[in-house]
Amino acid sequence: MTTTDRDTTRYDYIIIGSGIAGLNTALLAAEHGSVLVVTKGRIDDCNSRYAQGGIAAAIGPGDSATLHERDTLDAGAGLCDPEAVGVLTGQGPDSIAGLIQWGVPFDTIHGQIALGREGAHSMPRILRAGGDATGAREAT
Ligand SMILES: Cc1cc2nc3c(=O)[nH]c(=O)nc-3n(C[C@H](O)[C@H](O)[C@H](O)COP(=O)(O)OP(=O)(O)OC[C@H]3O[C@@H](n4cnc5c(N)ncnc54)[C@H](O)[C@@H]3O)c2cc1C
Repeated sequence: MTTTDRDTTRYDYIIIGSGIAGLNTALLAAEHGSVLVVTKGRIDDCNSRYAQGGIAAAIGPGDSATLHERDTLDAGAGLCDPEAVGVLTGQGPDSIAGLIQWGVPFDTIHGQIALGREGAHSMPRILRAGGDATGAREAT
């Protein structure tokens, strides 16, 4: 339901924001109860929709969360919060598995997820869906 009217329904979870963080949380919360997503503007009016370059996660052969963490901290040149980087890189592979389970159609090559290498990444670990329109891609 999309509404701008007064809604008096009770929900188990209320999620503010309809970007990837909010929608990811909403999908997880929906496994435990009813969910309302509150957002400003249209539901697809968010930065996530415009993300182009893909998602980095250490899922390729020979890659690891530790390598991803090291590359990220090196590229950050002292500006990163190491704890946050540890969470981001450590949980990356499981998060990607969750997105695949939800039907995110990541680009493939020869039946395998295509992994790009760019920027400060020492390994191929960039996943895209629909090339450089990853954020706008809908689940299938
Ligand atoms: C052009 C562009 C390209 C990018 N490319 C990449 C990329 O290639 N790879 C990458 O990893 N990242 C990329 N990013 C960054 C990435 O898009 C963001 O880091 C990510 O989308 C953040 O997700 P989010 O859910 O936290 O925020 P958002 O997607 O911005 O969602 C925030 C949500 O909160 C809502 N909201 C805000 N304020 C309120 C309020 N007061 N009340 C109610 N709702 C509110 C908004 O309407 C929106 O729905 C790119 C960003 C842009 C703009």
